[in-house]
Amino acid sequence: MLLIKNANVDGKGVLSDILINDKGFYQEISTHIDETSILGCQVIDVKGMMAAPTFVNTHMHFDKCYTALKGRESSVETLEDSIKIMHNIKRNYTVEDVKERAIRGIKECVMFGTTKIRTNVDIDNMANLVGLEGVLAAKEATKDICDLQVVAFPQEGIFCNEGTEKLMYEAMEMGADIAGGMPAAEYLDEHARQHVDLVFSLAEKYGTLIDMHIDQSKDMFDRSLEYTAFLTMKNGLGGRVTGGHCTSITYQNQSHAIKVMEMLKKADVNICTNTQVLAIMGIDQEPRTRGVTRIREMVDMGINVCTAQDTICDGFHLYGTGDPLDYGLVGCYTAQYNTPGTAQIMWDMITKNSMRAFNPDEKYGIEVGNCADLNIIDANNVQEAFRTRASRPYVIKKGKIIASFQRTATLL
Ligand SMILES: [Zn+2]
Repeated sequence: MLLIKNANVDGKGVLSDILINDKGFYQEISTHIDETSILGCQVIDVKGMMAAPTFVNTHMHFDKCYTALKGRESSVETLEDSIKIMHNIKRNYTVEDVKERAIRGIKECVMFGTTKIRTNVDIDNMANLVGLEGVLAAKEATKDICDLQVVAFPQEGIFCNEGTEKLMYEAMEMGADIAGGMPAAEYLDEHARQHVDLVFSLAEKYGTLIDMHIDQSKDMFDRSLEYTAFLTMKNGLGGRVTGGHCTSITYQNQSHAIKVMEMLKKADVNICTNTQVLAIMGIDQEPRTRGVTRIREMVDMGINVCTAQDTICDGFHLYGTGDPLDYGLVGCYTAQYNTPGTAQIMWDMITKNSMRAFNPDEKYGIEVGNCADLNIIDANNVQEAFRTRASRPYVIKKGKIIASFQRTATLL
């Protein structure tokens, strides 16, 4: 048993005691729980710190992480350049190398309080299934600290990358959890549509959720997002399909964009914008590409919007820590969320909205009966947590303390 005393649950300003049973579930949450009556109970007094469910990160690329530790090539500034650089890296993947880097990436995310992560793994005729084998090995090695979902991700396209269609089926057979897609990689619009069709049929065959990078471009004529919303409605898959990035919609004219967003709302498609892609989408003319979707409008329309890390130190992105308070803070700036109420919206995007995309069937949050995955955060409320990227002295998974992150700065 673990008893957490004086926790400010979800930063709402009310102190509670939280009792977690030996199976790792919340047993009791109330203003006072007397530890003397509970045999062998570990007690932590968190003295008013926030308690919040652990973060959920639904968009990673662990097969690629840390490949730029020695720096990126100085000429790499556009998304297109980054993709070319990654081709060379992928051709040289080994299972051991991918496994080692993925474990490091998972641990880095967990240390900051994330215990549920969805990672994409490239499936194409350069990486073949080597990246997948490495990431699946990393998933097994870290299963006690992290629930990892693996997306079979055809980064290079399916129909313009010979052999990928077959590899996608093999990836699902090998144990990929989610059918992924990248329709914008196809040469022809008709192939982009067939690409989306194939992903939906893979998901149906293997009974999985869908998570595609959709319209990740600056092309105002990309139309895969609306087609995905249409198929989601047609197949009754509300809540089970996630679109990643979805940047092209920011370039589309307002009346078309509103039509697509209304379809997304009706279809109940989750949207995951990855705010640090600000750095990725390239150096171009003013007004500069921001690489994020229409966060504010989508949120205001009631679409389930979440945000994630995406990449850590790879051919696309020199930075990235895996800390949701880092990419969440970037999100606050990007969406111009500058009030306590809108900071809460961004907080929801890195917690419960992400969880809804991760697993729409699983309960989440600090409530009796739920699994006790929670962080103790040294802040009074969510905007303070973002502002200071606060310490997390206890990261707790299924009732066990698994990590601690302390941010210290001392004036001497
Ligand atoms: Zn991505």
